[in-house]
Amino acid sequence: MNNQQGNISIHAQNIMPIIKRWLYSDKDIFIRELVSNGCDAITKQKMLNPSDEADYKVTVTLDTNAGELRFSDNGIGMTAEEVEKYINQVAFSGAEEFLKNYEGDGKSGIIGHFGLGFYSAFMVADKVTIQSLSGREGEASVCWESEDGMAFEMKDGTRTERGTDIILHISEEEQEFNDEFKVREVLTRYCGFMATPIYLDVIKDVEPEKDEDGNDKPIEIKEPEHINKIPALWLKKPSDCTDEEYKTFYKDVFHTYEDPLFYVHLNVDYPFNLKGILYFPKLTNDFGTREGEIKLFSGQVFVANNIKEVIPEFLMLLKGVIDCPDLPLNVSRSFLQNDGYVKKLSAYITRKVADKLTGLFNTERDNYQTYWDDIHPFVKYGCMRDAKFFEQVKDTLLFKSTKGDYFTLNEYIAKNEGTLGKKVIYTSDPTRQTASVALYDAENIDVIVLDALIDLNFASFIEYSAGIEDLHFARVDADSQTFAKEQSEDEKKQSEESEKKLVDLFKHATGNDTLQVKLSTLKDENLSALLTQDEQGRRFSEMSKIYGQDFKMPETHTLVLNTANTVVQSLIESEEGEKRDLMAAQLYDLARMSTRPLEKDEVTEFLARSNKLMEMLCK
Ligand code: ADP
Ligand code: MG
Repeated sequence: MNNQQGNISIHAQNIMPIIKRWLYSDKDIFIRELVSNGCDAITKQKMLNPSDEADYKVTVTLDTNAGELRFSDNGIGMTAEEVEKYINQVAFSGAEEFLKNYEGDGKSGIIGHFGLGFYSAFMVADKVTIQSLSGREGEASVCWESEDGMAFEMKDGTRTERGTDIILHISEEEQEFNDEFKVREVLTRYCGFMATPIYLDVIKDVEPEKDEDGNDKPIEIKEPEHINKIPALWLKKPSDCTDEEYKTFYKDVFHTYEDPLFYVHLNVDYPFNLKGILYFPKLTNDFGTREGEIKLFSGQVFVANNIKEVIPEFLMLLKGVIDCPDLPLNVSRSFLQNDGYVKKLSAYITRKVADKLTGLFNTERDNYQTYWDDIHPFVKYGCMRDAKFFEQVKDTLLFKSTKGDYFTLNEYIAKNEGTLGKKVIYTSDPTRQTASVALYDAENIDVIVLDALIDLNFASFIEYSAGIEDLHFARVDADSQTFAKEQSEDEKKQSEESEKKLVDLFKHATGNDTLQVKLSTLKDENLSALLTQDEQGRRFSEMSKIYGQDFKMPETHTLVLNTANTVVQSLIESEEGEKRDLMAAQLYDLARMSTRPLEKDEVTEFLARSNKLMEMLCK
């Protein structure tokens, strides 16, 4: 052919500078685009010639010395006319559309996946060369070259086998792509599950190793590395996948040694096309690191991680892959937010997760219980975020008792209603609150453990959402009435008198003006005192603490002194004086410590006082 020079269709000149400027933040995608083009070319060749058993593949070669990145495929190839038509004329149809959307969108709404295609190469290259040979009989090879994506030159090419090379000379500013690790990372991320085999070949200078005699050892030639070794398991029929396959896939994809707890395989063709696998990971107790990872694909091509428009936020604790071939690669946030299709996808995913939970609950309750400790924060969060999800899973919510039994709400109420009515007793700290928990144990009442960060909110949520009248949660130290022995009229009168005296003593000894004092005869005589606090008041002040509000609700605590306890008895009978004040303050601290850790000053005081009391014992 005659050498030919020209300018790419007029629109390109307007668009190129904008592409360069606006895609600054997400240049990586040029690799995805060029590899996809190679795969497309192979697909086309296969369709044209289904019986050809060629070793189809796309090879990405990085020549670090030359600063070149080459994308080679043995697909259909292009004739000179096709280069003219598809590269010079219409290559920008997609990009133009993006710009239209983009202008209406405001600058912020772009994720950065526009399906820009071939021209995205110019984001990182100061020269792009196409060498192509069409598979069609009698066609000559063609070479196309451009430095800026606007002016081009075409001439005879050098390729001798069917297929295409796209060669990028990496520009000075984009040398990060002249790096093996960068290219491998981007390739693995975007192309790790593509259907066509993809290889990475790196050409670099290697210092030969020396043998014992100081001579150069022959340099080992590294085979190109297979990038997409792991098959896209989500595409297989769920009935054809084994448990082992699911687990191996999980470990390979998320680089972990741990098994997932369980998984959901999503697989629908209608009314939308969605496939994927969601895994419930074992969660560590550290809330901060509970970050899941859900990879969104469009036809095996990676789009982005954790797109919350497609996957409901509360499912972000999960790990997995979702493939929606009907989602365009050029997704923008505002497109996703306003798209009815995406909303349906999201609702479907939620429903499937809920189905899995109820399925496990109904058919494998024992297993489900072993998972519960790991999954409960996420399930609870989901309930509070999504009314439909809550509706679906509410009968499978479990409450674990201090003894390790699991109850549904209805089971708990059925078992304890005789003594408690519609009350659920819980502890927020089973170790610290043992004294109060023991009181309930003695009465054979189950105490639920609600010690996760989310539980404070969740208890309130269940109270108003469960649809059970009078349902309320009360912490073990919310009151101790249940356990007081019946008092005769005389005893009551006496108690009241003693209480009056003791209120002043304790206010004085503890410096707490709002403290109330109550005498009660508890069954366990070893227990000296308990500090109780009204449930609603306590929850309110805990909430304000969490949300960082400074105003404090006046907290009303009641110190319950056990008249069956000898220390308390002797306190009631003792004379005024230092010893009496010390005893009162010590009792108060002991009671406090069984509800919450002492604060710094309180600890100092407690230790000093304990020492003083010991000294008194020695006298
Ligand atoms: P799209 O892939 O969306 O059509 P691109 O800008 O990526 O847009 O590519 C434009 C066109 O150039 C393709 O449709 C195809 O006809 C042609 N093309 C690009 N790369 C190759 C390749 N490696 N082999 C054959 N044809 C290609
Ligand atoms: Mg393309």
